[in-house]
Amino acid sequence: MKELPPGVALVAAAKTRGVDEIRAAASAGVKIIGENYVQEAEEVFKVLGKAVRWHFIGHLQKNKVKKAVRIFDMIETVDSLSIAGEIDKRSAEICKVMPVLIELNSAREPNKSGVKPEEVKGLIEKVSTLKNVKVLGLMTMGPLAEDGEGLRPFFRLTRNIFDGLKADAVPGAEMKYLSMGMTSSYKVAIEEGANLVRVGTKIFGERVYENG
Ligand SMILES: *Cc1c(COP(=O)(O)O)cnc(C)c1O
Repeated sequence: MKELPPGVALVAAAKTRGVDEIRAAASAGVKIIGENYVQEAEEVFKVLGKAVRWHFIGHLQKNKVKKAVRIFDMIETVDSLSIAGEIDKRSAEICKVMPVLIELNSAREPNKSGVKPEEVKGLIEKVSTLKNVKVLGLMTMGPLAEDGEGLRPFFRLTRNIFDGLKADAVPGAEMKYLSMGMTSSYKVAIEEGANLVRVGTKIFGERVYENG
């Protein structure tokens, strides 16, 4: 991943990877680890701790927030006031202000996480009133069925919304990070303005799912 342009940070998406693999990636220079499951993160966090930074990139359940705020440096997938409120409450308990990104459902897919484009500003206005949560940008996945060029329109839409929100200057929110792109699409995402890319397969190799 030496070819990332300056200003673009790599999040190594580490779901299903063991401690040794993640440690090896950190030794090779990876600075940010992305985890989808709090429990998996906990195991690795016990070993690596603050040697790397931790981003949560999965779907966060309310009953996992208390643990999550202790481990993660950023939660990239906030998509409701209710989960933001829980993050706020649990962060306050440990005197932390948790950086978050708002996840956009850029393809408006039903039953998928993320807020719809027309709802994102309203959510940011509400989340920004919480004292122990700090909105720092947007994250999107785009439709699962697409990759590479097929994701470009969704990345472009997300970038346009990001720029619009930046211009709106919602008090308390800062539009600093735009998290888009995975192994098959990070190059397109960077062309469309991403400054955080979440890459798993290209770093760690193909995932092997047990029983799967
Ligand atoms: C797994 C995952 C990635 C990385 O996917 P790869 O195709 O392995 O690069 C990025 N973002 C999220 C949210 C993921 O769950």
